[in-house]
Amino acid sequence: MMSFEAARERLLGDVPRLPSERVELEAALGRVLAESVLAGAAIPPFAYSAMDGYALATRDLIGHGPFFLPVHGESRTGRPSAALDTGTACAISTGAEVPAGADAVLPREVVEAAAGGIRFEGKVRAGQHIRRAGEDLAAGAVALEAGTRIGPPALGLAASLDVTELTVARRPRVTILCTGDELRAPGTAKAPGKIPDSISQPLAALAGMAGASVRKQPPVGDERDATEQAVRAALVETDLLLTVGGVSVGEHDWVRPALEAEGVILDFWKVSIKPGKPIAFGRHSSGTAAVLGLPGNPASALITFSLFGMPLLRAMQGDRAPLPSLVTLPLAERLTHKPGRLEFVRVALASRDGRLSVVPLQNQASGALTSLAWAAGLALVPGEVEQLEAGSLVEVLRLQDL
Ligand code: AMP
Ligand code: MG
Repeated sequence: MMSFEAARERLLGDVPRLPSERVELEAALGRVLAESVLAGAAIPPFAYSAMDGYALATRDLIGHGPFFLPVHGESRTGRPSAALDTGTACAISTGAEVPAGADAVLPREVVEAAAGGIRFEGKVRAGQHIRRAGEDLAAGAVALEAGTRIGPPALGLAASLDVTELTVARRPRVTILCTGDELRAPGTAKAPGKIPDSISQPLAALAGMAGASVRKQPPVGDERDATEQAVRAALVETDLLLTVGGVSVGEHDWVRPALEAEGVILDFWKVSIKPGKPIAFGRHSSGTAAVLGLPGNPASALITFSLFGMPLLRAMQGDRAPLPSLVTLPLAERLTHKPGRLEFVRVALASRDGRLSVVPLQNQASGALTSLAWAAGLALVPGEVEQLEAGSLVEVLRLQDL
């Protein structure tokens, strides 16, 4: 059996990159930058005041005062400011340009208004309460590096540089194909032996979180010709085909032969994890589409897709950090484990006095969606472990970090 790490290395080892496209900032959230953004101008673009108060020149002040300076003029936001008259102070607002000749700002709170001027005492430091031009970022410096996943603040940084379009990886096109005679669409008439398809929706949502645009094929029954036809249709204009179910050794499991008949070269991995049956990974012989054959049990399908499919989608987009980070947290209670495979235990996170601890949830069966729907994360319990006492530290993959 392959280790989890080895399986991920093989999956992410040599991932073909998607082409890039230009998108408006509004459409760039969650996408991966294909080209670095360089600062076309300094940030901030001009020296400005960080306080409401008075701009002055420290060379006009000797010692600790008390001082009196007449106030000449005002520098307001959104307007150019005139140069400072020697021996005077200039009223200034937060964000307004520091007048030429001024090198410090006195906050309004520390001065006393006097006839036509201000009174104050104490040492005034050159540069105080002034944000220098370029102090955040110099013109020409890298603002956002290629391979960055764009979050809301990155949109703000681009906007502050007058950048209105970004070059990002094209969205991976994901097609979902569920299999099984037992499936019916959620909300449709109940019938003996039938169950609602509970995987298409969450799988589409997870793929969407990883930046994909998703197409759902109608589920296909457990019949060879129909499965082949459905696979053929699903491979058109697809970067990643996700099949669900029908991939094990049952008499009615047609996914594997159908994929092979349609030119997919499959690599079956028995990965030493729980949940997660053997997972099929392959690529169409033309090199265009990748294929992941996911198990049909809902929790297995969603967890294996989270562990393998989402990083794959991110890697296709050139994401520098395609793998989610793990956090280390203490167990709230004792945990027992059947030694063997690395287990991804569905856990809640309890908060006591502002500290998080890990609470394993009840039903960890491959088909149980309750515990996954109620979970905040997956705790990694190494294969060799038999028991972990309350307070032991475990690594947790938080579902919000997927
Ligand atoms: P399979 O991998 O096709 O043998 O399916 C394993 C289990 O998962 C069976 O109990 C199926 O009924 C169930 N299953 C397969 N696909 C789905 C689905 N889309 N939604 C809910 N359950 C499913
Ligand atoms: Mg099936």
